[in-house]
Amino acid sequence: MEAPDFAVIGHIEDWRQATNTINAMRSEDNHPLAEADVRDILPWIPPRPLFRMTVRSRVPDLVVHGLYLETFIPPENLATGRLRRNLGKVRAAAQWADREGVRITSLGGFTSIILEGDTTLLPESLRSAFTTGNTLTTAYIAKGVERACLLHGKDLSESRMLIVGATGDIGSACVKYFESAVRGLLLCARNRRRLEHLSARLSAMDRDVTFSTELDQLLPDADVIILAASISANGLGLVERKPDAIVCDAGYPKNRAVGNTDLESSRLLFNGGLGQVTEGVRYTPDLSAPFYGDHIQNVAHGCALEAALLALENRFESYSAGRGNIEVEDVEEMWSLAQKHGFELAPFHNAYGPWSVKQLIS
Ligand code: NDP
Repeated sequence: MEAPDFAVIGHIEDWRQATNTINAMRSEDNHPLAEADVRDILPWIPPRPLFRMTVRSRVPDLVVHGLYLETFIPPENLATGRLRRNLGKVRAAAQWADREGVRITSLGGFTSIILEGDTTLLPESLRSAFTTGNTLTTAYIAKGVERACLLHGKDLSESRMLIVGATGDIGSACVKYFESAVRGLLLCARNRRRLEHLSARLSAMDRDVTFSTELDQLLPDADVIILAASISANGLGLVERKPDAIVCDAGYPKNRAVGNTDLESSRLLFNGGLGQVTEGVRYTPDLSAPFYGDHIQNVAHGCALEAALLALENRFESYSAGRGNIEVEDVEEMWSLAQKHGFELAPFHNAYGPWSVKQLIS
């Protein structure tokens, strides 16, 4: 087995995924565990590697090897106050990456949110550089939204864009990317003071901006919606949205409430922030189905692919760090590196599978 060039620290999104993952790891001689059993067991599993990744570049003969480290933080604990326990799991996973000699590690999803992007909370002795992966994630969200609008004939310059989680690291990067491209911005988060601050900056530049801590007040005016909030359970209801609003759900776990079948089964919602490696990602053992479903291949989260990209470029640096530091030039740089190595946008899809050709031309 090749020594890993990069590592990704991540977490399970929901109990269904946890159950499928744990059963996929068990030998065929063992009967499958019920979700109730997995709920009892998972919190006690220490962080550990789940699979290796082999990622091929479009540049001939260029390959990097990665290690995925699962923290086993229970999904509903991700955004709650269990800071010490969660932090302990992220630190233990980071130490594992260090023991493997990894030089660049991505802090996927909530593992960077737990640290608030502050890697000084990790043990000082670690030799790996840490990146949140949020710059490449933002690139996939932004380019995905542009492409989805093009497919649906929606003119961004005539559209009002709602960003949920607008004051966060990814949300604020999306604001910077789209602030002069759209007709108006609708900003949502829970903390009013941070929203006021962001809105004042945009108003000073004559942007049309409205903010609220109440999502339902903004939804009816939104033509395009980016969900980038750090929500771990219960999800956001989008009932008040316009029927033709395009929705990019970049949450990890997903931000939207489940069970909204009219939206889920439509071509208007896509899971954003994901990339597809044209030359292939091999997962060993192959746990790609519980993570990404079996309808699309060679897909990974933007945060994971950022570490792979930096390893391919021999750039063992904390490319994405802290909160609110991602600039549009960084997003464009990551996007152009992604193109160079064949890390394209993931095909548009949601829980019901890929957007079909029939849907796209109807
Ligand atoms: P941050 O913690 O930096 O920002 C989160 C934002 O969400 C803040 O604006 C926060 O503001 C807001 N927020 C939290 N709860 C709510 C709520 N109930 N309603 C409205 N707003 C809310 O997180 P990141 O920017 O790093 O990550 C955002 C999301 O993107 C997460 O789900 C993360 O896991 C996901 N992600 C996805 C990746 C992918 O590959 N698709 C990669 C990396 C991250 P306030 O506290 O004021 O409410």
